[in-house]
Amino acid sequence: MNYSDLSALLFPHITKTPQDYFKQYPPRALPEGAKVTRFAPSPTGFLHIGGLFAALISERMAHQSGGVFMLRIEDTDKKREVQDGVSGIIEGLYAFGIIPDEGFVAQDKQVGAYGTYLQSERAEIYQAFAKDLVNKGLAYPCFCSEQEIASIRQQQELNKELPGYYGEYAHCRNLSFEEIEQNIKQGKPYVLRLKSPGSADKRISFKDGIRGTIEMPENIVDVVLLKTDGIPTYHFAHAVDDTLMRTTHVIRGDEWISSVPIHLQLFACMGLKPPKYAHIAPIMKEENGGKRKISKRKDPEASVTYYSEQGYPKQGVIEYLLNLANSNFEDFRRQNPKASWQDFKLQMNKMSVSGCLFDLVKLHDICKNVIASWTAEQVCDAAMEWAKTYDPELYALMHKDPAYATTLFSFDRNPDKPRKDIGKWSEVRDTFSYMFTPLFKPVYELPEQISRDDMKRIAERYAQMFVPGQDKNLWFDTVKDLAQEMGFAREVKQYKKDPDAYKGHVGDISSVIRVAVTGRMKSPDLHGILNALGKDEVVRRIHQFTEEI
Ligand code: GLU
Repeated sequence: MNYSDLSALLFPHITKTPQDYFKQYPPRALPEGAKVTRFAPSPTGFLHIGGLFAALISERMAHQSGGVFMLRIEDTDKKREVQDGVSGIIEGLYAFGIIPDEGFVAQDKQVGAYGTYLQSERAEIYQAFAKDLVNKGLAYPCFCSEQEIASIRQQQELNKELPGYYGEYAHCRNLSFEEIEQNIKQGKPYVLRLKSPGSADKRISFKDGIRGTIEMPENIVDVVLLKTDGIPTYHFAHAVDDTLMRTTHVIRGDEWISSVPIHLQLFACMGLKPPKYAHIAPIMKEENGGKRKISKRKDPEASVTYYSEQGYPKQGVIEYLLNLANSNFEDFRRQNPKASWQDFKLQMNKMSVSGCLFDLVKLHDICKNVIASWTAEQVCDAAMEWAKTYDPELYALMHKDPAYATTLFSFDRNPDKPRKDIGKWSEVRDTFSYMFTPLFKPVYELPEQISRDDMKRIAERYAQMFVPGQDKNLWFDTVKDLAQEMGFAREVKQYKKDPDAYKGHVGDISSVIRVAVTGRMKSPDLHGILNALGKDEVVRRIHQFTEEI
């Protein structure tokens, strides 16, 4: 058969060749060792935590090496697409500081010289490469109907053979030019298949960036390159796009490992150098003592919007994911408490091969540490930013007096041992409800060792004594004075020496004041709280307390 006649018959409208595209998208001028990576989701509007993980690894590999990170949208499967499905993904990435250099930067905006980065706009490019393969006798049209393909599959199942279109099952491999021409004239739909040069007794091997060397049987299946509508399959689009976008490292989910033999064969058939591959194991969840993949259907935490809604600080989420990727991130953080996470050198070969276990408790702990390392102003800004969208009532209260709001977060923010009371912004409301009068609805936790009468007397007397703005030592002296006046020891030590001589000690006095103004037995810096609330509010709360207990 004359293959150029065939390619002209199949692709009369395609005039460009792969060479034209190589000129249009020349090798990138990047320093030696710079990696070019991409995140390539379908526009489903949904960013899975595993997607964020993969995007983070790709982004790190690119930016750590002075390379380029792209966001390409793989919209060849129209069934998976949702309206405005790109913006959900971009928002998810941006919310966590993963910013692509090229590709999509908004629903309708792309940047970069290697585009378009939307596969459905690249049909002509794929077809130029497909035409070239037909020209070389390495691809052919297949007119088999879905029923015919299904019956081939059935037969193969019965015979316990490898499924797929190959060997004696590949009927259309041997059609003559005339038969093909006839079918096309009749308007019969067809797919374009690779004429696989593989043989069943050969094996391929490649070096995976995460798993090391992997060996597999060579591909022998005549896989589909272009579907009946001329749109490529994942395999073909991957080979063409990653070639023309000059991707150096394809970092993707490990569900693609089994397709690597197809991909390597495709690159070989096209006379192209394949990229390096790294396959990421999925994020797992513990369930009933076993492990399963974290699932969009079952687990709210599978979607990255969950982290935004809950108000986990983005730095915390990223640091947690870096921890999942490389467990030595924890040592890095310990040794460099002030460093940016971007200073950590992520290594792909240290990543888990079997799938790391997702642990919300650990995420929460990491977020607590992250928040504890920030200044009160940073914490307040981030909490307010979150509340603006997710808790308007809290936002309004904080926004009314930002300086007051900042004060809350400054309690016990001692640089040596900062208080770690919040791990996500949705905890601010509960943690600090007593600082906002409209949110203060106390259910008093009462100290058991003190009688109600004593509590009332202590509280009422304190309402008279309290002077806002006093220095902390001076303030504590007044609490000690009150202890003495009420028959409690001024010092804990004193009380311990002779417990029968006192009703209790100064700590009990603080407890009563604390419970009266916060409703709780535990709070940060009582002196700070009293000063922030001010005399009128403290007095009002004490009256409320003595009436309600
Ligand atoms: N669209 C593919 C997916 O979502 C991309 C895989 C890849 O990164 O090549 O699985």
